[in-house]
Amino acid sequence: MTTIAELDRIAITVKSHRLLQRLLGENPPLETIMRRAMNETEALVGVRNWVLDEVRTRSACLAYYASEHPTREDFQALEWRDFAAIRILDYIDNAGREFRDLNLRGELAVSNPFRLLWLAVHQGTGGAKPGFFEDMLHLFRQFTGHSGHTPPAREQVEAWMERYPSGLDPRIVKLRQENRDRILGLIIDRMDREEIPSRKFRFKEGMTRAEKLRQALDWWEDKDFHLTFAVRSPELLNQMLGESLDPDTIKVLQQARDAGIPFFVNPYYLSLLHVRVPYFAIGADLAIRYYVTYSTQLVEEFGHIVAWEKEDLVEPGKPNAAGWRLPPYDNVHRRYPDVAILIPDTMGRACGGLCSLCQRMYDFQRGRLNFEMESLRPTASWSEKLPEIMDYFRDDAQLRDILITGGDALMSADASLKKILDAVLEMAREKREANRARPDGKKHAEILRVRLGTRLPVYLPQRVTPELMTILATFKAEASAVGIRQFVIQTHVEAPMEVTPEAREAFRKLISAGWTVTNQLVFSAAASRRGHSAKLRQALNEVGVLPYYTFVVKGYMENNFNYAPIARVVQEEEEEKVMGQIPEELRERLRDFPLNAELMVENVEALRREADLPFLATDRSVLNLPAVGKSLTFRTIGITRYGRRILEFDHDPTRAHSPIIDRMGKMVIIESKSIAEYLRQMDEIGEDTSEYQGVYGYSLGETEPRMPLYEYPPYDFRTTDEMTNLELEEEEAVGV
Ligand code: SF4
Repeated sequence: MTTIAELDRIAITVKSHRLLQRLLGENPPLETIMRRAMNETEALVGVRNWVLDEVRTRSACLAYYASEHPTREDFQALEWRDFAAIRILDYIDNAGREFRDLNLRGELAVSNPFRLLWLAVHQGTGGAKPGFFEDMLHLFRQFTGHSGHTPPAREQVEAWMERYPSGLDPRIVKLRQENRDRILGLIIDRMDREEIPSRKFRFKEGMTRAEKLRQALDWWEDKDFHLTFAVRSPELLNQMLGESLDPDTIKVLQQARDAGIPFFVNPYYLSLLHVRVPYFAIGADLAIRYYVTYSTQLVEEFGHIVAWEKEDLVEPGKPNAAGWRLPPYDNVHRRYPDVAILIPDTMGRACGGLCSLCQRMYDFQRGRLNFEMESLRPTASWSEKLPEIMDYFRDDAQLRDILITGGDALMSADASLKKILDAVLEMAREKREANRARPDGKKHAEILRVRLGTRLPVYLPQRVTPELMTILATFKAEASAVGIRQFVIQTHVEAPMEVTPEAREAFRKLISAGWTVTNQLVFSAAASRRGHSAKLRQALNEVGVLPYYTFVVKGYMENNFNYAPIARVVQEEEEEKVMGQIPEELRERLRDFPLNAELMVENVEALRREADLPFLATDRSVLNLPAVGKSLTFRTIGITRYGRRILEFDHDPTRAHSPIIDRMGKMVIIESKSIAEYLRQMDEIGEDTSEYQGVYGYSLGETEPRMPLYEYPPYDFRTTDEMTNLELEEEEAVGV
């Protein structure tokens, strides 16, 4: 491991020198300060005095800088130049702080950008990379007002959105049919060669090729067909894609297999990938493609991945990182007072595919997850665990929301799912009963919301069958009678190209069972391209799905390839998503949409028309913090030699948390990718990086307000403030 003193002696590169010259040339006061400073302290004092002098009349800037917990209104009052001034002052206030960089397997990172500048000016050392100097160059252009910023107009955003057809575009539908037929042809060949024996899917003796194809087209509607014939090797993937993968991609996929990373792509999802790039949809399937293929960084890090979610690491008998005591099984995860996640011991532990950036890659690495469906069938012990887990929900004073997920909640067989929902129903009924004996003000929270987390509407829409609809509709009717008010399918659609006729039909069925469908997008590098996420919101709205969260990619270096820096997340929020901002006076109307979930498509369309919006921006952009909670309230307090930013996050003050967050304080994240690297990656995937102008400037964030739609309905009684199942240990310390 190289020490910081050793790094300081490293000479900067020619490119870094050139960027430094440009920085000093554009900023004579900075050059004077740096050249006159005898040491780094004098450099820091000089820059600080200069900046404070420049902003002395900008009260919004000074107030924000001085505030421990600024508000969203404070954020919105800032001028473009203020962002830079606050960042420079924060860099100085945090100079010399050291952090464990989990992107570099725990190496120590120190942030001291003005020391790096001073070393570069006086000794040509410091080891700072071009990405660092590029970031500093943009910082000072923003500070001095040399680079003003005009956000794009609606027409521009709509033009960007136009680049991405949805999977409902008739030309795309036709291409996918061709893909399907090609894939089926290859599967028939393999069945003929008896390479894939299946008891359920067999051709009758003497069938002609045409008859086999007709039979296979029928099977295509059956989810089991796709699970049975899922591609599990890079070679077969390439074959199924008409040998169109380039050798480098194949090599990485083979290395991934050798490293033990599972491979699971079902034929339906595979049919969404283009073999040849269609002229009218260049790059449109990239976000899907990067979900299926693995990156070099993932392969290299597999075996060294550390858990992001600290509260998922539970020692038996001890509370988790958020302070919650949990049932003695690995089936309940909890961060907040009001909601807990249930992960059943069923096929629901699997998914319809493996997303390359899956947050559960850590569990695949530990060998706790796999795609061996037989081994995931529920056992007798699950029947014993389930009632105990339900007792936990029933007896807890604050829990009112249960999120059943996995993996994927809809991977569970109908019978397993029904059993879980029946147990939830009984638990909600008993929770309500038990409240009768409690006085007002001492009553426990009753169950208000049930959610099913699933990506199957896009991974495997064939799973959404009439039988499933009956289970969901029946549950809703019975659960409504015991006070449950919100029934939500929480899905994960990543790209407008995933919104296909099959997915639309799956959503239609779920909606007609009376469930509200909301979406969680992961803002991967491919999804971060201009207009991509805005188009996804529009495509989702058209099929009755409401955007819920836009998530920053979690994880460390293993997800580096798919990572989009948080500055780009804020830029998207402020420049693209803002086009779908619902006027204040119409937001309340949205709250009632779930009450008539069956009319979601029509209601969303009417609201969009009335407000003249290209889509409804009902989602909040957030990072799932590696400790407790979600937030996009942050400041950029430092930068590494590589130009990777160091961000300090505060908790989202608008939601109920475990009191443990008061002890945790703020939390520091080091990004795995510099903005310069991100822009180079965008350039490599065909983007015009001048369209991302301004991205460097988004160095602050305040979490957006939650839509009233996503709030819990009120009770007609007063609940207790008591938190049961909470244990706060004195020495609790969580963070990166
Ligand atoms: S659907 Fe979710 S849990 Fe499943 S592989 Fe993808 S990201 Fe992971």
